[in-house]
Amino acid sequence: MIEKRDFYIDGAWTAPALANDFPVIDPSNEEQCAVISLGGAADTDAAVAAANRAYATWSTTPKADRIALVERIFDIYQARAEEMAQAISLEMGAPIDLARTQQAPAGAWHIKTFIRTAKNFEFDRLLGPHAPNDRILYEPVGVCGLITPWNWPMNQVTLKVIPALLAGCTMVLKPSEIAPLSSLLFAEIVDAAGAPAGVFNLVNGDGAGVGTQLSGHPDIDMISFTGSTRAGIAISKNAADTLKHVHLELGGKGANLIFADADEKAVKRGTLHCFNNTGQSCNAPTRMLVERSIYDQAVETAAETAARTAVDVAAKEGRHIGPVVSQAQFDKIQDLIQKGIDEGARLVAGGLGRPEGVNRGYFVRPTVFADVANDMTIAREEIFGPVLSIIPFDTEEEAVEIANETPYGLTNYVQSGDGARRNRLARQLRSGMVEMNGQPRGAGSPFGGMKASGNGREGGVWGLEDFLDVKAVSGWAEE
Ligand code: NAD
Repeated sequence: MIEKRDFYIDGAWTAPALANDFPVIDPSNEEQCAVISLGGAADTDAAVAAANRAYATWSTTPKADRIALVERIFDIYQARAEEMAQAISLEMGAPIDLARTQQAPAGAWHIKTFIRTAKNFEFDRLLGPHAPNDRILYEPVGVCGLITPWNWPMNQVTLKVIPALLAGCTMVLKPSEIAPLSSLLFAEIVDAAGAPAGVFNLVNGDGAGVGTQLSGHPDIDMISFTGSTRAGIAISKNAADTLKHVHLELGGKGANLIFADADEKAVKRGTLHCFNNTGQSCNAPTRMLVERSIYDQAVETAAETAARTAVDVAAKEGRHIGPVVSQAQFDKIQDLIQKGIDEGARLVAGGLGRPEGVNRGYFVRPTVFADVANDMTIAREEIFGPVLSIIPFDTEEEAVEIANETPYGLTNYVQSGDGARRNRLARQLRSGMVEMNGQPRGAGSPFGGMKASGNGREGGVWGLEDFLDVKAVSGWAEE
């Protein structure tokens, strides 16, 4: 069994102040695959103190040196990509091919994009030609607490650690206790790249312990959090007394608006997108809104796609989906499927229980509900499993109304051959992102939400600026 009890504090692997073992469970077989420690206040304080000591030097280190560190991190990350994919696959159940082609590469992609962003970013600029002696200085926001979830672990860790490093911040990372192995490997990579002691620290722990200690800590200037809306609210409240910056990337309940003039692959693509990563993506298109004239055909296509979606263990190669992450998630998804049935949605694929022939592992049947009303629980709550809800609509106005009638606002999707309609809808949908006709957003595009989906923007210039404070200076002498 993998034993990873130590934390990374002040440039050294450090035993927890108090032993507190915590099992990491392999979701494919429900067996313990690793042991870590949950930290406590003494560990959090030690890491925060180290980050504060390192701040004076790191915050004034030249931009070129900060970029050079991140370039070394990129090279080592790439060299250890297979190990990273294996760690992610084991800890959270991503099928190994998905871990190799999407999960681990997402980290490399963000690191590379941030290097380019930082190179082009002017940390020190003129206000404008009308005020030649005014300067705007972009300065690091300070010591950061970074709290991440388990569903896209390296995607989320790199979206926080890398811009924080490039901005000149120092930090304490608390990854998800459910999926800590990839972050422990990431800490090894940062160490091998030669980050100065105290600049990057990692303490494992849960939300009630290290998470809460970080969000309330008087010596932390900013919390960047990705996770549930529930925890985002708790963190915001706990951070209020110390007036920290709080950046939140929370849940979603994305609508995928499919019009009769959409391309013929739109329904299949939308269904597979909903099931990708076993439905455990905050930006998953979980509500499929379909124009009435193609509704019956769409329901049939989605049900067939679900029936053909294989479910299997994470270690096996291939295009199947894996288990969901934990017993708690499995139970929550089963409850919500039951609610869908009870509230009168029409089950057309999948349903309760594990797939046929499977009796252990947190495997869920790829499930499709048709005739869903937008006020049903399955249309309102984030399920975080391979469960699609299909809702019919008659007019464009009605589609927008249904799409926007949700507490969330992360990503919405539009499928239509009519360019003018697409552009119109892009403006009307209340979400931080709108993706249309299956085209992914480009490198450096900001990721983030509106409403209950949070307030931060990660990636690109916006993701770097999240870790910077703006200082306005007048009377600046010509240099
Ligand atoms: P979670 O909120 O339970 O946990 C996320 C992290 O926060 C973990 O590290 C956890 O230990 C910590 N935490 C929990 N309660 C806390 C508290 N009170 N104070 C401080 N820290 C606390 O979420 P999860 O189950 O790990 O992740 C799934 C959720 O994350 C989903 O709701 C999903 O939509 C969301 N998510 C959002 C994005 C995004 O960018 N918008 C990306 C991925 C996941």
